[in-house]
This record gives sequence, structure tokens and C-alpha cells, in this order.
Amino acid sequence: MNAITPFDRSKARFPIPEVATSFINGASVGAAGGHRIPVISPATEELISELREADADEVAAAVAAARNAFDKGPWPRMSVDERKKIMLQIKDVLMKHADELAYLETMNAGLAVTHVRGFHVPRMGFNFEFFAEVASQAAGDAYTQTKPYLSIVTREPIGVGALIGPWNAPLALCSMKIASCIAFGNTCVLKPSEFTPLSLRRVVELINTTDIPKGVVNLVNGRGQTTGDALVSHPGVDVVSFTGGTTTGRAIASRAGQGLKPVALELGGKSANIITATANMERALDGSLLGIYSNNGQQCLAGSRILLDRKIADSFVAKFVERSKKIIVGDPLEQKTNIGPLAYEGHMKRVLSYVDIAKQDGAELLTGGAAHPGFNKGYYMQPTAVMAKSNAARVCQEEIFGPFATFLVYDDIDEAIAIANQSDFGLVGYVWSEHLPTAMKVSQNVRAGTIWVNTPLTRELRAPFGGYKHSGIGRDSAEDCKMFFTEAKTTTIPLEDFPMAKWGA
Ligand code: NAD
Repeated sequence: MNAITPFDRSKARFPIPEVATSFINGASVGAAGGHRIPVISPATEELISELREADADEVAAAVAAARNAFDKGPWPRMSVDERKKIMLQIKDVLMKHADELAYLETMNAGLAVTHVRGFHVPRMGFNFEFFAEVASQAAGDAYTQTKPYLSIVTREPIGVGALIGPWNAPLALCSMKIASCIAFGNTCVLKPSEFTPLSLRRVVELINTTDIPKGVVNLVNGRGQTTGDALVSHPGVDVVSFTGGTTTGRAIASRAGQGLKPVALELGGKSANIITATANMERALDGSLLGIYSNNGQQCLAGSRILLDRKIADSFVAKFVERSKKIIVGDPLEQKTNIGPLAYEGHMKRVLSYVDIAKQDGAELLTGGAAHPGFNKGYYMQPTAVMAKSNAARVCQEEIFGPFATFLVYDDIDEAIAIANQSDFGLVGYVWSEHLPTAMKVSQNVRAGTIWVNTPLTRELRAPFGGYKHSGIGRDSAEDCKMFFTEAKTTTIPLEDFPMAKWGA
């Protein structure tokens, strides 16, 4: 490990806070005291900030602010049109600071700035517009079948949401959590990953410059075992929305279960990317490279198990390897960079450890497999690919979460489908084929929440997104988020007097 040097703040393109604190009831918590955790730039290993961890008392203060804003404040009681106006203000203020937010994300998470500014930031803005619209179009139900009654079903906000996110795409993922929670009249406390507090700390501060009432959007910073656990267990929290690893998801679900809190879990993946002999090979190659290497390879929906029809396997691998070698790995602030550094040192070591694990299981290293040469600082890794011997190998079963592709060869589409399904995960699946029945067969038989046919990584926010099996519980979509973040209430009223027993008359 290199010595950590402080960042020269005069070089910062936008201000970076010296200490990332919690943000509670419309105000920043003071920077003094508290347990400190260094925030390191993965590109340069410089100390760019410090996180001041929220302890259980500070978490309780954040929940109290959200509770008060929900129980007594105007937000849940406003007309949906008033809320919509404020949601659109939020979108505007965040997009006015788009370059700053992209910079903070890149400095902290190591994601290529072109990717963050081009995809994550616009998605963040759109999340607020989209869920404002969803809430404003939401309707209830009426039942008239049982005469003489009219039963109406309305949906009411569920209360205070605990929103917990990972480090791999903080802006895109956590903005969706905030937007889908508050759009329906709820209030929230967000806990970003302790590795990437900077962009979301600024987002919550900016949200609080709009007309949103104090206490609707709060943030606590800290590690999972301390701050996160205190948040999930707090009795003032009504609902928990979590995105992160499968092991953490289990712990959170059982903790939330003790309080009988509904929980949505978006967890890991080890998704199959099936390349058939009927694919448009050029597009399948482009899509497969993006599917495994974009976002520095750190994405739950990566196409990390690439399954090749034996007829095209050799030529596909040769082209994939040739292109992998030409991918630009470098400073994530540079416009030309495709892959930046991995998020933190421990994560890079873990990802690289899979090179030996692969070899022990008999895999052949096709390309990469080491730290990227040419950098004496930063967590840069070569785009890596291995050919596995069998789907039972650990590199086929475990989520590696880095620029690390694993290939397998199959002989017919039924075998490809069987391999795809031999996994504890079931988040997404990819298939490349110009033959419709083949594509549809994969779509209908692969057990995953989303299937992408001839496209990588497309999110339709209106449609459900989430995992089968150990990839999660629940879905994100317009309708699913409405159901998750609201309670249904049935009100029944007879439309005429009906004969009633007259006990004691
Ligand atoms: P992680 O599970 O280590 O941490 C996620 C968050 O949970 C962090 O904020 C962490 O502080 C918090 N946390 C940890 N322990 C906790 C506890 N006991 N109680 C409360 N909170 C706790 O995940 P990560 O390493 O930050 O992110 C990578 C993982 O996230 C990968 O497995 C990836 O597949 C998954 N992910 C899933 C999706 C999806 O939509 N399915 C999207 C992105 C990432």
C-alpha cells in the first residue's frame, strides 16, 4: 500500500468538503469530533476528504427529523401537484450542478467522468421528474360489486424510509431511492456507502435549497455495522430500501424483519450473456465489452458469464481479447478514459485474487490479469478475461464486481439456458441472436428479472427491475415503487340503508 498523501485543494475543479458529515433537518451536522474515516481518491490514493461517522444518537436525530416531517409536517399533506412542483425544482437544481456532481462522483468513486456526466447524472435528474409524474398520475380503485356498498381503495404514504446504497453508482442508484420514496409523500434518511459519501452529501444539501420542507430528506454517513444497522433497527423507520451485496441484504432483511418493516433488496448478480451463432457478431461484441467492462466492471447487472456457441467461440474470443487490450484505462477525469480505477484498494485486491482462483479451477487466462502497468498510484486494473472449464468454477458462481469476464462454451441453446440458470443469482440475462424463436426461448427460460435481447444495460424505468433468487426481493418500476412506498387503505360505505340486526332492541 502506498502512503496516503493529502490532496492539494487548489487543484480541485469544484469544492470538495474537508469533512463529509450528516445532514439532518435541513442543516449540516457540525464537523467537530466523531469517528473519522478517510475518503481516498482511487485514482491517486490522495486523502480527498474525511467522513465523520454518525453514531446511534445521530441516526436517532435524523430519524426524529424525518418522523416529525412525516407525522406533523406539510409534505405528506400537500397536494400532489405542489409536491410535483418541488420535485421538478429538485431536478433543476441538481442539473444546474451536473458538472460539479459528476466531478465529485469521479473523484470519489473513480468512475469515468464521461460515463457519469453522460449517463448517471441525467438519470439522476430524470428520476425526480419521472417519479413526480408517476405520483401525479397515480389512481385508486373502486369496487361496486357487493351491493349496496361502495369500497374505495386509496394509497397513503407509508412513512419514514431508510434508504441504503452501495458505492458503485451512488448518484444514479440513490437518487432513484430518494425520488421514488418522497414522490408519494414519504420522508427519508439516506445512508450512502462509507466509501463514496461525497456526491450524495452534496445532492442532499442541494435538495434542501429548494422549497422542500425541512426533515423530508436527511442523510447520515457511516459504516454499515454502525450507522446502517442503527438506521435499519430504529423503531421510527417504517420501510427499508437497500441496494448492495447479497450477504448484507440478508443481514438487513433479518434486522428489518424483527421490526416487521417491509424491505426491498436489490442485490448481486452473475448474469449470463449468451452469444448464439445467429448473432450479429459485431453488435454482440460491442455489447459484451460494454456489458462487462463499463462502469469499471463494477455493476450488479454486468454480463459477467459470457456463454459462447462452440461454432463461433474461437473467433469471438480472439476479437474480444484484441478489443480488451485497446480499452483506455486511465485517469477517470480524462474525457477519453473508458475504465478508471477500481473503487478502493481492498476491492482491487479482491478482484485480482480471482485470477489465481480461476487458474486453480483450471481456467485459462485470456488477457489482463494484473494491475495496469504505467501507474504508480491508484487502483488501476487491466481488463481481464478467462476461459473457464466448467460453470461450477468459482469465477462462474461468485460475483467478482470488476473488469473481469468469464467465458464458457456451449453446444446448443438448451445447454446455454441450463448453464445460465445454474447460479444462485438471477438479476439479468443477455442474449444475442437475429433468430426470434431462439431469443424468445432464452427470454422465457432464463430465470432472471430482466432479459436483454441484442442490447446491453438498457433500463426502462416504467418496467420492473429486480432479481430472482439471491439477486433480491421486490422490484423497482413506476408501479412497484408506488406499491412499496404506499399503504393501501380500503374505505367501505353503503350507498343506501340496509337491514341491520337490532340487538338489544
Ligand atoms: P455492501 O452490501 O457492502 O454495502 C451496501 C451498503 O450497505 C453500504 O452503504 C453499507 O455501508 C451498508 N451496510 C453494510 N452492512 C450493513 C448493515 N449490517 N446494516 C445496514 N447497512 C449496512 O455492498 P457494496 O460493496 O457497497 O456494493 C456492491 C454490491 O452491491 C454488489 O454485490 C452489487 O451487485 C450490489 N448492487 C446491486 C444493484 C442492484 O440493483 N441489484 C445495484 C448496484 C449494486
